[in-house]
Amino acid sequence: MTAIQPSRKPNAWMYVEGPARRVLHMKLLYRRQHLAAAAAEHTAHGQVGAEMLWRAVDATEARLRHLFPDSWAQQHETWATTDAARMHTAADPRPVDCHLCVPNPPEATASSGS
Ligand SMILES: [Zn+2]
Repeated sequence: MTAIQPSRKPNAWMYVEGPARRVLHMKLLYRRQHLAAAAAEHTAHGQVGAEMLWRAVDATEARLRHLFPDSWAQQHETWATTDAARMHTAADPRPVDCHLCVPNPPEATASSGS
């Protein structure tokens, strides 16, 4: 095996080209997307761990900015807009894209017999 092992040295990704780099890029983008969605949900519902999730979002964005500065520059404003749009309260739910609103509908009076 002559391939370098980027996982052992984070900065080694700076010199990796081709598919592996694209995969990392996509992984980081997905990671950022999922973390931000979870962070917004946790914040909206006052869940423990919201702050930790936002810190993870920040760390992922920092990594994207470091490794893929062009991508970061293109997208960071969209992320801010998307994150802001996700904000809601339990009283004003967003079941369309919030996993925590779904299991706790405000007036779930469904009385389905078994
Ligand atoms: Zn919600």
